[in-house]
Amino acid sequence: AKEDGKGTYVVYDKSMHTAFNERMNIEKHLRSAMNNNEFELYYQPQVDIQSGLISGFEALIRWNSPTLGFVSPLSFIKIAEDSRLIIYIGEWVLRESCIFMKGIQDRMGIPYKISVNISIIQLLQDDFVEMVQESLAESGLKPSCLELEITESIFMESFESIVNKLQFLKSQGIRIALDDFGTGYSSLSYLQQLPISTLKMDKTFIDSLSEKAYSQSFVQTIIQLGHNMGLEVVAEGVEEISQLDFLRKSGCDKVQGYLVSRPVPKQEVVELLEPQKRY
Ligand code: C2E
Ligand code: CA
Ligand code: CA
Ligand code: CA
Repeated sequence: AKEDGKGTYVVYDKSMHTAFNERMNIEKHLRSAMNNNEFELYYQPQVDIQSGLISGFEALIRWNSPTLGFVSPLSFIKIAEDSRLIIYIGEWVLRESCIFMKGIQDRMGIPYKISVNISIIQLLQDDFVEMVQESLAESGLKPSCLELEITESIFMESFESIVNKLQFLKSQGIRIALDDFGTGYSSLSYLQQLPISTLKMDKTFIDSLSEKAYSQSFVQTIIQLGHNMGLEVVAEGVEEISQLDFLRKSGCDKVQGYLVSRPVPKQEVVELLEPQKRY
């Protein structure tokens, strides 16, 4: 609150005003971004730790706005969710990644997997399941090559209807990953009820590996928990060889991170695959 000069206080300050305007400004430009083709997908490889080979990619959206410049998904996804624009953006992301990965599979003769981030707003749509099935049908991608990444925020709303949708998709062979695992507030009992195939251990656990004494056993416990539940365990944000060595020794299934590669534009994906390096 600030003195307004007339002896009264107003609940308002300049930084709040600026943040609000910035949100409004982003939302305004977000509205035309789809039609203007301002979005692009980058792809970050995932490596199978046992073979050391790239087994798939995560699609990550990039927005280059002619007026705002590059805007991080960390700042615009939330705004896209609040304004429900994420429904259209997310549909484009899914269709585009399925088509792209089918092309890479055909070109390389290897069934690479594609992981796509899905917002809870999308999951809540009545036609979400249909939309996923259409994306597979039109691209020709096999269901087993598609992984949907969801976060623990799905625990907040309509839990049952969402679980039913995920259950159905999983029964069709589509994989479901729980993203940022360990950062939310999910309890282990929730974890048991969720129809998932993969645990994606959050980067913060990987970061802590070299710093905190107990973090190594913590990471090993998550890997064991996942395996006991029949899940694949993926580590995200792996930047150092020592982290990869530890994860390999601990039986983690896959790694993703700058150590292997940053997310790259689609033109650079094939360069990562030929010649195929072993990590
Ligand atoms: P996320 O799903 O947890 O994705 C991982 C983020 O970590 C990505 O940031 C990726 O570029 C970054 N990253 C990967 N490896 C490393 C590493 O070794 N070190 C560091 N420091 N960072 C690494 P990005 O691309 O900026 O995306 C941020 C978040 O935005 C994502 O986090 C995801 O929640 C959201 N997002 C991105 N694309 C989409 C999308 O198409 N749809 C939806 N709904 N959300 C998206
Ligand atoms: Ca993700
Ligand atoms: Ca994350
Ligand atoms: Ca995430």
